[in-house]
Order: sequence, then structure tokens, then C-alpha cells
Amino acid sequence: MEKGTPERDFKQMIKSVNDNDEAVFMSYQNENNPIFYKEQKRWIEEAIFKKGQGSSLTVDFENFEKETDTTGTVTLKVDMTTPGNGSSTNYIKYQTIRVNDKWVLNDVPFEEMKSETENITVYYNQGEEEAAKKTLKDATDIVNYYKKKFSWNPGPLSIKLYPTPGEVSATVPWVSLAGWNEGGESIEITTELTKEIFRFLTHELTHKMLGDLTNDNASIYIQEGFASYLEISVYRDENGEVQFDPNRAKEMTTLSLKKKKSVKTIEELGNIDYTDPEGSMYRDGFLLFNYLIETNGLDKFFEMIHCLSKFDYIDKRGEHKMDKTQERTVEAIEKIYGPAGDVSSNCQAFYSK
Ligand SMILES: [Zn+2]
Repeated sequence: MEKGTPERDFKQMIKSVNDNDEAVFMSYQNENNPIFYKEQKRWIEEAIFKKGQGSSLTVDFENFEKETDTTGTVTLKVDMTTPGNGSSTNYIKYQTIRVNDKWVLNDVPFEEMKSETENITVYYNQGEEEAAKKTLKDATDIVNYYKKKFSWNPGPLSIKLYPTPGEVSATVPWVSLAGWNEGGESIEITTELTKEIFRFLTHELTHKMLGDLTNDNASIYIQEGFASYLEISVYRDENGEVQFDPNRAKEMTTLSLKKKKSVKTIEELGNIDYTDPEGSMYRDGFLLFNYLIETNGLDKFFEMIHCLSKFDYIDKRGEHKMDKTQERTVEAIEKIYGPAGDVSSNCQAFYSK
């Protein structure tokens, strides 16, 4: 194949995925698009990580459509199998541009909608303006509320909407996903979930906020516990105002405990990732968080958060740095609440009353 043709360039990029060659893969991404470039770096790291855990992942070239001598679109096919989570084949279409005789990927050909006041950009596909508008309105109102309530000072936020879960899954990469969020990356969601977007955003924007406030040093169960708590207790009232009601979280604890009485310890939670079949990082994380708030209040929790912000930033996804974040989270918990073992047994006792 001729050098500098799109087919040859994409074959090289695809080979780099099979070879786990991050440097070559990244040389086919547009470095002048910083969010996309960062997300592609996280993409190849996830691919390598998942393969290391026993998943299989392959990318194939589907087709290229030329627009001009230096622009076009390319469709890629992502096949993935994760033991216990099944298999999927997903397709994703990227814009591609020719830079110095090389074709590089430059994100999905998105349209953009911005909230100037809150510095939020929603990226969406043509024909999905309504979903984008709703997403932008909900995100703007929730960010505004979190800023006031939790003294959060967010940087620019990016939200990407995709028509199907397949496209969310292909761009992460993951076998099957309807939504996604990680520190330093865009929030991603399929417009199939537009009806639930407010609830989804209360959860994902909590992750963004907690990531900012802790320098992304909170363990997965602290992240999911806090996000699940706000997802259930923050809502829009009949006048369209964003409100917070901790009683909603209390009702949720009753439901969780009806199904199962026990609560995992901090030590146990530290070893649990997103492969956990019971979703303990959500369920037990939420119960732990609710216990801390009910007994010691939100201010004390924020003191713990403040301790986490003193640790340096590790530029990795949560699951890829969980040993370190657990060590740091335990240290912060112990500083503010006392020995982690005592916190765990007091939490268990609190719910067995
Ligand atoms: Zn979450």
C-alpha cells in the first residue's frame, strides 16, 4: 500500500492496538485536539489493561470516505469480549484529517452547544439538538447548584452525546456501556437515555466535583458512594428548581438493607473494582457514605476530602490506580474519623440497629 494513504495509516494504527503499542497508536491521534488526544491515550491504556485482565479486543478498518484532500471520515469496528460480561461488536465513525502526510483521528464529527456562564460544552451528532439542549440545561443547573452547595469551582466541562450505547462502548473501550465518566475526560452518554439525563448528570457531575476536590485521589467506593447519594437526593421540584433532600437517601438505605443486612468493610471495599457482580462499590459505598454523613455531617466529610487533595495527581483512570487511592483514602479516613476498622464496625452496627 502507498505511503500516506488513509488505508495504510489506519492499518498501522490498528496494528498498534494489537501490539499494545501506545506510542504508535498516539501518533495517529490529533494532538491539537487536547480533550480527544487525552481520551485516546486513556483508550489505549484501557485496551492494554483489559487485555491484561483476560479480555480480547480487536479493531478493524470498515471504510473511509474522503471529503477533501486533507479531510474525511473513517469507520472502525471494535470487537470486545470480557469474561463474565459477554461480547460485543461496535462501530464508531471518526473525522480524520491529514497532518504532515499522515492521516490522524480527530474525534467524532460532532456539533457543539455551549453554556457560557458555566463553561460547559455539549458535543452531539447532527439531528440530536433537542437532546443536546436538555443535557446542557440540566448540566448547567446542576453545576450551578453544586458550586453553591459544595464550594466547587469547576474548570471547563465537556459532555459527549452518542446516538447509541455501542458508540459509548467503542470510545471507552468497554463491552457494553450507556454512559461513562473519568477524571480529565468527557462525560459520555447515549441519547437513548435522554429521559434520565438529569439523574445521570447528578451522578456523573458528582464524580467530576469529587475528582477536582480530591485531586482525583478518592477510592472507587467513595466516588460511587457520594455519586449514588446525590443521584438519589438531588432532584428538580415542581417549579423546576434544583433541590436536595437527604430523606430520599434514607429511604434508599432501607431498601438496600432489606435485600441484604451486611455492609462491606473499608478494607474489603478497597479491593473491589467494576467487575464486582454485586456492584458493591455503589451499594456498600453508598451505605458507608450515608453513615458518615448521618453520624458526623457533611463538613467532616469535606475535611476528609481536603486531606485527599494534598496528595499528588496520578494521571490514570480510577481502576488503574486503585491500590494507591485506597492507601490514600484510608490515611485520610483515619486522620478524620479514626481507625478504618472501627469506622467499618461502627457503620455495620449503625445499620443493624
Ligand atoms: Zn459512578
